[in-house]
Amino acid sequence: MSIAKTVETFKLYIDGEWNDPATGEYFDVVSPATGEVLFKAANGNRQDVKKAIEASCSAFQHWSKKSGKERSTILFRLYQLMLENTEELAKTISSEMGKPIKQARGEVANSAEYVLWNAEEGKRVYGQTIQGFEANKRLQMTKQPVGPVAAITPWNFPLAMITRKLSPALAAGCTVILKPAEQTPGTAVKFFELAEEAGIPKGVINLVTGQPAEIGDALLSDKRIRKITFTGSTKVGKLLLEKAAHQVKRVSMELGGHAPFIVFEDADLDKAVSSVMKSKYFNCGQTCISPNRLYVQESIKETFLDKLKAAVEGLTVGNGLNEEVGLGPVVSKAGLDKVKSHVKDAQEKGARLVCGGEEYQVRDCEEGFFYTPTILSDVNEKMRISYEETFGPVAPIFTFKNEDEVVNKANDTDYGLAAYMFTKDLARSVRVSESLEYGMVGINDTVLSQVQGPFGGIKESGMGREGGPNGLDDFLETKFISTVI
Ligand code: NAD
Repeated sequence: MSIAKTVETFKLYIDGEWNDPATGEYFDVVSPATGEVLFKAANGNRQDVKKAIEASCSAFQHWSKKSGKERSTILFRLYQLMLENTEELAKTISSEMGKPIKQARGEVANSAEYVLWNAEEGKRVYGQTIQGFEANKRLQMTKQPVGPVAAITPWNFPLAMITRKLSPALAAGCTVILKPAEQTPGTAVKFFELAEEAGIPKGVINLVTGQPAEIGDALLSDKRIRKITFTGSTKVGKLLLEKAAHQVKRVSMELGGHAPFIVFEDADLDKAVSSVMKSKYFNCGQTCISPNRLYVQESIKETFLDKLKAAVEGLTVGNGLNEEVGLGPVVSKAGLDKVKSHVKDAQEKGARLVCGGEEYQVRDCEEGFFYTPTILSDVNEKMRISYEETFGPVAPIFTFKNEDEVVNKANDTDYGLAAYMFTKDLARSVRVSESLEYGMVGINDTVLSQVQGPFGGIKESGMGREGGPNGLDDFLETKFISTVI
């Protein structure tokens, strides 16, 4: 007789309590590596959102009045708990969305850093006094939390995207309702359990998992929610912006990207190749700042391709939970189909397959969405891969003759999130970085997600910045006070 495996069930977290959803329904969370059902998560609806909004409004009355130091102390405890629970968080991330466990541990460390950084920043919210035109006037500019905030996050960095939003909001004195991606509710639940243990008071953070459109509508149509902070696709971002406009809600949007990665002929090619490995194939290519167009100067094309091919062929594909794996599965069948269609389209339009280009079978993971790490050369602007996000382990190689040409090509996109260049020429690095129309530029560097720096894009990649010296600003209002004495 076979014994059915018990699957953990995750509830909603509203007003400091774990509740069943109003629908009484739960949905399956499936492993992209094995196809097994990992958890069941609550299918929340409009009624649950209403309760969460009421809880967050009531909690705002006291949380916003605490001192920055008091809020910081609780967030610091959360930071410590995250580090103490790294392994459980990392395993949940890797199981739900497939990334290699080492990368998942790195995500936990990076996510915790955001909590620590914002806890510290929360103690340093400054106002200003301004000299009046009359001697009996005193003018002041103060900062206040914007109010209850709605946060909607994607699956590709299921923990980091939560802490990048919740920690600055909480440090600034806002309360939050989170709707995480339906692929990764487990990571959100584990984070909320730690937040509860850290002593975040009831109602200050609330978690509603479930159907995106209904939950999103309920959050955006309620006047009491004063701000929406979103990370996800440009398509959904535009939809949310339209809805936020009806009530002139504050918005922060971290949207899609299509990063150019420029390799000049004077670059350190080994460094450039190892950086492609750390960025293009990191998280199976499923990052918003992943290089999507590799522009290699004509004179070094063949050498660069040889080196990159050798590195790519050294990657081990498999279930991310195995320590030796360097490339996990794509998150879903839809994601895999998109990768396949981009490669097929490029080949049909003349691209050359240097390596990879196939679905991949991993032993004991027959249901997984694996794809071999791929390089395409002779790519041109007519191919879909040159203007749509692939979100998979495919490096498309373009060539260029000179600096002006490559800057024009790099900027020829509606996106403006991240761009990279590899060169040893200092003057060129200054010229090109100033000409690139992107929110972030890496010069001989691809690590742009650092808490000390402002992360965010321009054009259709969004608005607002996360982290950096002004990371709390998006959650603060400026108030002007004029006093006659
Ligand atoms: P997505 O836009 O499909 O989903 C993101 C979130 O929005 C999820 O929680 C989803 O449930 C929710 N959502 C979907 N439809 C909704 C609706 N109608 N109303 C309310 N919420 C809705 O994106 P994804 O596939 O989860 O994530 C990948 C995308 O995120 C890529 O485009 C990537 O570039 C982008 N991204 C951007 C950044 C950044 O910082 N700029 C970081 C990570 C990911």
